[in-house]
Amino acid sequence: MKVAITGGKGGTGKSTVATALAVELAKKNKVLLIDADADCPNNHLILSIKRKKAKDVFQLIPKWDFKKCIKCGKCGLVCKQHAIVSIKGKYPIFIPEQCNGCKACMFVCPTGAIKKDKKKIGSVYYGKKGNISFVSGEIEPNQPSSEFIINAVNDFVKSKQNKYDFTIVDTSAGTHCDVISALENCDLALAVTEPTPLGKHDLELILKLLKILKIPCFIILNKADVGDKNLIEKTAKKFKTKIIAEIPYKKSILEAYSRGIPIRDKNISKIADYIRII
Ligand code: SF4
Ligand code: SF4
Repeated sequence: MKVAITGGKGGTGKSTVATALAVELAKKNKVLLIDADADCPNNHLILSIKRKKAKDVFQLIPKWDFKKCIKCGKCGLVCKQHAIVSIKGKYPIFIPEQCNGCKACMFVCPTGAIKKDKKKIGSVYYGKKGNISFVSGEIEPNQPSSEFIINAVNDFVKSKQNKYDFTIVDTSAGTHCDVISALENCDLALAVTEPTPLGKHDLELILKLLKILKIPCFIILNKADVGDKNLIEKTAKKFKTKIIAEIPYKKSILEAYSRGIPIRDKNISKIADYIRII
């Protein structure tokens, strides 16, 4: 079973829940934990897992043959990423950090002056701790497309996932392409949120996305005793789902988080039992 730990808002405790849940499930089951927050992976730090590099990830970029270029400026006009500065009558200037490899410039060039090249945009890592196997993706600084890293992570684990009872995917915040890639083939999503207006707003966004992707979802309410729980209960009702666990705002949890160790809480055991029954 593949379970995503997600939630629209950053800082709600997704990684805290994902790592603690992986540790709890691993007491009885074989677990694969995927850190799919390529911009800021931290699960290996929380679990003190020493990562090894599995592979580098490359992305297609254009390469110019100026002998063929007639300085028409079309490649710059078509680039939505503003990765090409081109003025009619001048050779184009390329800014590789901006390029997401869409190939539009190659298609539009009338003389075939633009060929394919590649750039390294990140890496896939793996590690192990007890019953937990671990995979994470990490993007290079200043690269725009973390979904390519998550796609590479998905490819890397594809042939391995059947060996595990549970795959836990810790997604990044938001509802962008990298989150959609991380949610690929998930059987269930647990949306971690907090009882605040911001928490409610971003929870609604991720619940809308999960509805579109047809992934069943339950809510985990973190910092449950701070703020207005009614906000999240109303959202749960609106999206025909429910809150399956409430994690309190506790000093012991904050201490564990600040020391970079997985939290222990009876609510995490409750979530693990819930998943095992499903
Ligand atoms: S491949 Fe796409 S993003 Fe990259 S330079 Fe060409 S048009 Fe721009
Ligand atoms: S579209 Fe092709 S020919 Fe025109 S400026 Fe760009 S590279 Fe040169």
